[in-house]
Amino acid sequence: MKAKILVVEDEAAIVALLRYNLEQAGFEVWEANDGEEGLLAAQEQSPDLILLDWMLPVTSGLEVCRRVRRTTELRNVPIIMLTARGEEADKIRGLDSGADDYIAKPFSPSELIARINAVLRRSQPSLNAETLIYDEIVMDLTAHRVQRSGRDIHLGPTEFRLLRHLLQHPGRVFSREQLLDHVWGHDVYVEPRTVDVHIRRLRKALNADDEIDVIRTVRSAGYALDMRN
Ligand code: CA
Repeated sequence: MKAKILVVEDEAAIVALLRYNLEQAGFEVWEANDGEEGLLAAQEQSPDLILLDWMLPVTSGLEVCRRVRRTTELRNVPIIMLTARGEEADKIRGLDSGADDYIAKPFSPSELIARINAVLRRSQPSLNAETLIYDEIVMDLTAHRVQRSGRDIHLGPTEFRLLRHLLQHPGRVFSREQLLDHVWGHDVYVEPRTVDVHIRRLRKALNADDEIDVIRTVRSAGYALDMRN
């Protein structure tokens, strides 16, 4: 599955350059041209990474970064800041604001891609793993097998994909629309309520009577894999 990158940048030429290089590198690219649009797009698209320009009109990149970190559903989304300024103080402020890394403009496309891949690897160590583990749950992607505390869990194909997606992003809240997008795909039309049906089946399969429900329902937001229910 392609990692989804949200580019928040107001300069059209840079957006085009970024889009070209990111798509060449196999990423799915979404763009927003100012901070407010960026925050909205981040909530709607649930990107795997945000590439955020420092100098944006109206709401600065720094402020967008702070607000992303204060938003429950977005708190864990990695952010790389693009900056034209090289001063140390700015870098530090950037990292203080919650950015994971920063790249100074002008940047070389290969360095940009390498930094993105490094941040993605750090933030989603399990994305390419063959076994996904979260607390007592073990999902073997090669053998297509799921266990909880050593007990075999039998899942239908949709529940399997749903659990795989949640295991790849533990703790992160996904809306029904985002789950439809990630698990069912863009082109399929399914009612958001279908997600609830499959979450219910997944819960039933995963949770024995005396066990903690590992799926957290976040009111009016969606679902997350979370032990701290
Ligand atoms: Ca700019």
